[in-house]
Amino acid sequence: MSDTQELSKAQQYNFNKLQKKLRRNVGNAIADFNMIEEGDRIMVCLSGGKDSYAMLDILCSLQRNAPVKFELIAVNLDQKQPGFPDHILPEYLESLGMEYKIVNEDTYSIVKEKIPEGKTTCSLCSRLRRGILYRTAKEIGATKIALGHHRDDMLETLFLNMFYGGKMKGMPPKLVSDNGEHVVIRPLAYCREKDIERFSEMKEFPIIPCNLCGSQPNLQRQVIKEMLRDWDKRHPGRIETMFTAMQNVVPSHLADFNLFDFKSIDKDSGAIDGGDIAFDKQEIPTTPVSGEEVGEFVPGEQLDIVQIN
Ligand code: SF4
Repeated sequence: MSDTQELSKAQQYNFNKLQKKLRRNVGNAIADFNMIEEGDRIMVCLSGGKDSYAMLDILCSLQRNAPVKFELIAVNLDQKQPGFPDHILPEYLESLGMEYKIVNEDTYSIVKEKIPEGKTTCSLCSRLRRGILYRTAKEIGATKIALGHHRDDMLETLFLNMFYGGKMKGMPPKLVSDNGEHVVIRPLAYCREKDIERFSEMKEFPIIPCNLCGSQPNLQRQVIKEMLRDWDKRHPGRIETMFTAMQNVVPSHLADFNLFDFKSIDKDSGAIDGGDIAFDKQEIPTTPVSGEEVGEFVPGEQLDIVQIN
């Protein structure tokens, strides 16, 4: 939404409400997972897609009001994909007046050279990208790396792993990187993709298309995405409940003997997590359980009067 654009009262109200909600979601995730601490220098990975723009925007606004001091530095990796409009992000970041770094690395040519035509390029491409981002985080002295994955990405990953990988494993809100050197955070962990989409449209972020590499979208992820969207339409609240379930794991009622010590259970162990209810069916709530109320600390909450910038 540009400064000059005239907004009706209703539009302004809706925008403020949405912005406040996203800030609250991000503030809660930051608090629940201790994502940001005093003195952090956070490398915010900016791809030019809606999610990373929204993450940067919300982190900047929380930074202004947060009780802890931290720095943000936006980083974009220009992978030299044909037609990548390399002026858009520098212009946008200049307009925000924030510290940023554009890393130029022609991973596109490497991928094209190494992967035969028609084969999927994403795994090599993302491996190269990961390595470059880790190196950049070191170079700029970042203490954390922020990625723009949201709640729906996390759920999709969980289902992908269950359907195809035989694992109950999602995408963590905070974890150390696979090379053991960086703390990776996902501040949008509690944000719905639908909200980010609307926010991005209202803010008119200068989106860079994500199909410049010419790669086919991941078919399996696409199938899961559509399944979740369909559930969301037909059973409102189901997505929220499933995400809440990711935060309420009961290892004693699953079957992973590495996660829960079933072997030492004896008659003196007591009823663990409600115990076993034999032949009875578990009582399931008839209305979805929402995770919206998770967490207490809301740095964005104080921003009732919201500026559009
Ligand atoms: S979609 Fe394109 S840019 Fe993204 S990981 Fe795959 S090959 Fe790389």
